[in-house]
Amino acid sequence: MEGTMKAVAKIAPGPGFDLITAPIPKIGRREVLIKVKAAAICGTDVHIYEWDDWSRKRITPPLIFGHEFCGDIVEVGEGVNSVKLGQFVSVETHITCGHCYYCRQGMGHVCETMKIIGVDRDGCFAEYVAVPETACWPWEIEVPVEIAAIQDPYGNAVHTALSADLVGADVLITGMGPIGLAAIPVAKLSGARRVFVTDVSEYRLNLAKKLGADYAINPKNDDPVPFIKDLTQGRGADVLLEVSGNPSAIKQGFAALRKAGTASLLGIPSKPVEFDIANDIIFKSIVVKGINGRRIWDTWFKGQALLAKGVDLSKLITHKMPLEEIEKGLELMIAGECGKVILYP
Ligand code: NAD
Ligand code: ZN
Repeated sequence: MEGTMKAVAKIAPGPGFDLITAPIPKIGRREVLIKVKAAAICGTDVHIYEWDDWSRKRITPPLIFGHEFCGDIVEVGEGVNSVKLGQFVSVETHITCGHCYYCRQGMGHVCETMKIIGVDRDGCFAEYVAVPETACWPWEIEVPVEIAAIQDPYGNAVHTALSADLVGADVLITGMGPIGLAAIPVAKLSGARRVFVTDVSEYRLNLAKKLGADYAINPKNDDPVPFIKDLTQGRGADVLLEVSGNPSAIKQGFAALRKAGTASLLGIPSKPVEFDIANDIIFKSIVVKGINGRRIWDTWFKGQALLAKGVDLSKLITHKMPLEEIEKGLELMIAGECGKVILYP
């Protein structure tokens, strides 16, 4: 497609962003052009905006950033055969190679040469974005564009939650960022008995209650460990979903976990964490799972089924604004005074 579009980009290294007019992306043989209907801001976009250590090492400007989105396919390359013109799709952010050892073993979520949209190639804070056909998720059910735009964090929540046996389980989720929040209805609908959550932000704890948490605990005011043990005959939670990346939440989470429980860790600590492996894992016979991204496409099918079954993420969407107002959205994310912020190009 010929013409220009508006986009949010990092033109040169340094903090901030540029609102630019860019050429509409050209697609390759096996790529499609998507007209973005809705996009969402992720913590990664905040890192790029602030130009932190990670961004300095990882991002090579010029780059249009943003990676959580959905839209309509408006152009297809001549080699495309799995999706069609006019189809409404969400997109898997992690572009896998399809032929490395892990991809061939059905483990694309740990692909050797994974490329990330909005990090390694131009992203979705724009009117149009080009992606490989293999990254498209055509929907089998009706979903609002705001929900279709947040399938990346929702998929993270689904992957984390479903990695443990939730039926009848008392589940502790540490960290009520968007992923932790989305994990609440997933856990509840997947059979959890009770969901305990922790966060140091009252705003996020309130949101957690709206999404169905049974007990929302602020570790700044109350110690979650005796609180949870008191309600579980002194044993502790059956399952820990760690989605904060905060060292103190990680320690608290393991302390509140019963013997032979399962801990699924998705939160990323900013540096190595000191941890009592002997007492918190070995002697308690804990099963620990590391969670990276979404299983492709297993997590997506499960996530879609759960949405069809009634997982309600509408309360997670707290702000909506035009793409041009992205700075307001980024600042809300930095303040933690939001769930998901949706942008319309
Ligand atoms: P986020 O980073 O905003 O969420 C973290 C939450 O933890 C915040 O609400 C914060 O207030 C809370 N928190 C801070 N200290 C705490 C404490 N002591 N106890 C309890 N909660 C505390 O948002 P997010 O996007 O939901 O990301 C969650 C984590 O997942 C981050 O660490 C992020 O880097 C990581 N992440 C991992 C993957 C992966 O594939 N493994 C993918 C995306 C994000
Ligand atoms: Zn691969």
